[in-house]
Amino acid sequence: MTPALGDPPPPEQARVRTVLGEIPAAELGTTLVHEHLLVDIRCNWRPDDDPAIAFHPVAPERLGRIRASPFACRDNLVVDEPHVLAEELERYRAAGGHTIVDATPPGLGRDARVLEWLAAESGVNIVAGCGFYVEATHPAGLHRWPVEDIAAEMIRDLTEGMDGTGIRAGVIGELGVTGYPMEPAERKVLQAAALAQQEVSCAIIAHSAAGPDSPLEVIEVLADAGADMSKVVQSHLDDRFRSDIDRYRRAVEAGAGLGLDTFGRELYYAMRKTWLPSDEDRIDVLVMLIESGMADRVFPAQDICFKHELAAYGGHGYGHFLNSIVPRLEARGVSEADLDTLLRKNPARLLAGHPSAHRSG
Ligand SMILES: [Zn+2]
Repeated sequence: MTPALGDPPPPEQARVRTVLGEIPAAELGTTLVHEHLLVDIRCNWRPDDDPAIAFHPVAPERLGRIRASPFACRDNLVVDEPHVLAEELERYRAAGGHTIVDATPPGLGRDARVLEWLAAESGVNIVAGCGFYVEATHPAGLHRWPVEDIAAEMIRDLTEGMDGTGIRAGVIGELGVTGYPMEPAERKVLQAAALAQQEVSCAIIAHSAAGPDSPLEVIEVLADAGADMSKVVQSHLDDRFRSDIDRYRRAVEAGAGLGLDTFGRELYYAMRKTWLPSDEDRIDVLVMLIESGMADRVFPAQDICFKHELAAYGGHGYGHFLNSIVPRLEARGVSEADLDTLLRKNPARLLAGHPSAHRSG
């Protein structure tokens, strides 16, 4: 019998595709569902934000300026050192983390062989991403591909393996949109993700563009295309929605999960006179969502994607939420049961797929 779309698999059958093969969802443990390991976001390079650091490597004497203008420093937009990442993942494990979703699709520096090595070396479960980020990273001509062909790329990564390796992706994402409204090619990618998800039960992790309107547009496109919204996380809402409870409610009413996934990134962009929330702002929102009965739809993470965010380069590292935010939440009265929901139950439900008919790695 084929389970209907959205039917949760019986708990004993729920499986998650990691880069080292399928594991029972019950074994995921503490999980962050939106991070990046190897990553290259030079598509977002903005040298004019601070020309003095544009061509220089990330180094302690520049850290203050890099923190103020992270997109200005070209070197800061590439994380490509496997041995450094292995140590970062060991720090995450020491902080109590067991599993990480590397929401990095091709075009952003994904390398399946390195992910496999990192998982084996660190003991952290790694779930890899697939699909396509913002249009600037799309393969040439993708805007002309039929939606079915775009979906086929995702299905191949999820069922056969990434880049001919046999190492399978476990989620679709992070999918990208450049602005509001989104580009037509980006709409096609979202529609393709919904199609792929109907064939391979898995989560979709979707980036949203700046401003409060982009996330609800992404959610609408996915829902209209028939996505299983119980397995969609709309990312970066801590910045996009800030403390706007009505927008969070609208996203949840559409079935989507709420990504509060840039913890640790506290930033004022002097050049653009815009700023990101502080961790205290994010904690306020997280407590508000828990008190409003939405704890089972919230997915906290850090979206680490800059070199200076790694502990090796003076940053907060993958253990930040567990080391620094959890104690602050406890001090605000968030219960052990709520933390269990945020960090273990929600990710397990999101990532669990039906048993795979394909090779299990
Ligand atoms: Zn991301």
